Amino acid sequence: MKLSVPDYVWALDPYEPGKPMEEVEREYGIKDPVKLASNENPLGPSPRAAEAIKRAIGNLNRYPDGGGFELLNAIAKKLDVRPENILLGNGSDEIIGMLAHTMLGEGDEAILPDPSFLMYDIVVKSVGAKPVYVPLKNHGISLGGFKEKITEKTRMIFINNPNNPTGTIVSKGEFEEFLNAVPEDVVIVIDEAYIEFVRDKSCLNGLDFLDIDRPIVILRTFSKIYGLAGLRIGYGIMPEAVTEMLNRIRMPFNASSLAQVGALAALDDDAFFKKTIKLVHEELDYLYGELDEMGVTYFPTQTNFFLIDVKRDANAFFEEMLQQGIIVRSMVSYGFPEYIRVNMGTHEENMKFIEALKKVF
Ligand SMILES: *Cc1c(COP(=O)(O)O)cnc(C)c1O
Repeated sequence: MKLSVPDYVWALDPYEPGKPMEEVEREYGIKDPVKLASNENPLGPSPRAAEAIKRAIGNLNRYPDGGGFELLNAIAKKLDVRPENILLGNGSDEIIGMLAHTMLGEGDEAILPDPSFLMYDIVVKSVGAKPVYVPLKNHGISLGGFKEKITEKTRMIFINNPNNPTGTIVSKGEFEEFLNAVPEDVVIVIDEAYIEFVRDKSCLNGLDFLDIDRPIVILRTFSKIYGLAGLRIGYGIMPEAVTEMLNRIRMPFNASSLAQVGALAALDDDAFFKKTIKLVHEELDYLYGELDEMGVTYFPTQTNFFLIDVKRDANAFFEEMLQQGIIVRSMVSYGFPEYIRVNMGTHEENMKFIEALKKVF
């Protein structure tokens, strides 16, 4: 077939998500595999969200509120910002895409940590812009390294705080110093998908920089702490001038009605929020303890997932864990050929994980 596609689209590799449970059941005949591969919430969805969604199903014949009025206002109130500062997305992934489509074009450069969340790289390339990679330093994002890569072509900078997949944070002090070195019109995206799990008090909170007159965009999601990854809802917090631009290219109903209703209810679900944090912190400590005992090397984390050094090909290790009914994530495509990433499951799931890990090791 004749197909005319820009070279930079030809060159893209599609995003590879964690292996879905259904696929493992189908391909390996394993019943009820334990999935620890996509940093999801093992406790299920926020019960309040689930209830609200059930109640709202009767309205599915109607289009959603394209302006997301109630949810925008609720988020604004919770974060003490104005609704005009918030943009809803079909997951925060969509907002990452919207940022690239609105602000980047051919010839522009975007600076990214490497390795980090693979979507930054994909969206930057998808508009013909050039990703400029900055290697991690001691597994963390090196803003000093970012500084050295700034050129006249730099239009956007991605900071993943905490960083997926290494679980490290950027401190507020580091960021303040960095900000002075960034030209004022460069968009700084701070992806805070896991900020709720952070225990280190020195961690940067992007919201502290919302009222300075700079294009800083903070990304948050309902996919992780609220357990709503399947619902697809996230949001960005940014100066009004930036929401105005993104709203020009936003699809009118990008946040579905059930997503809006579910997210609204989840925001109020303090009990679930706290329960999730407690589980993640307790289970991290449990897994650290087990791994220490086994003499296994890992990266301590500020998130709900961490990296384990398996000291051999991570793809093969992943396959062997799969045979044991455990889905982890091989870090080969992230540039850590001998690491797997695993997120916190329930205690029972984590015990199964350790059991399988012992066998495979
Ligand atoms: C999970 C994750 C997201 C959230 O994606 P959604 O599209 O909101 O589900 C964003 N950034 C990073 C780094 C993530 O790991």
